Amino acid sequence: MDRLARLHREIRACTKCVAAGYLATAMPILAGTSRDRVAIVGQAPGAIEITTGLPFTGRSGRILREWLAEAGIDEAHLPYRTAVTKCFPGKAKTGPGDRRPSPAEIELCAPWLEQELALLKPRVILLIGTLAIERLWGRVALASVIGTLRREPDRVLIPLPHPSGASRWLNEPANKALLRKALRLVRREVVGLDSAGIAGRMHRSR
Ligand code: SF4
Repeated sequence: MDRLARLHREIRACTKCVAAGYLATAMPILAGTSRDRVAIVGQAPGAIEITTGLPFTGRSGRILREWLAEAGIDEAHLPYRTAVTKCFPGKAKTGPGDRRPSPAEIELCAPWLEQELALLKPRVILLIGTLAIERLWGRVALASVIGTLRREPDRVLIPLPHPSGASRWLNEPANKALLRKALRLVRREVVGLDSAGIAGRMHRSR
């Protein structure tokens, strides 16, 4: 078992948010191996993920997979998948969708994400939704970053909107165009990994 697999075992045993009174139960969900060179960081798993035990398996996940396919990443070679907080936070008290994890929960979970990224060292990180973008990029308006990327010394960050139907951001045609631009960037960066011979488990359909 490598260090990342050992970390996964520790994360899956985490109950910090239960002990702190934020969650009734903990079921941390993440997937991937140390061979992955592309990582996806989402907000938090949803209700469906609790039943499947795998990230991005609900409706949002299906849409995200369609986006990945458009970027040349096929279903059989999904990237490393994790989230800012790794347990289902429950449904939102008002409005559609899931509850946004509180700042306290995010801080409790932050060391896990930091350790994951430190061990995995992904070359490309897809930031899914505002919470992941805030965490790894900074607080910005979605429209100002979707369709752009940030090159850091050892990795590239690419923000994407959250595929949840609860978000109306994608209803705007101009925002849909930004998403298409972002997916072209994902394709280009992933192809770049392949050209450099460091794609790992990635696969591209051209
Ligand atoms: S959300 Fe994160 S910190 Fe909270 S119990 Fe789950 S794994 Fe632990």
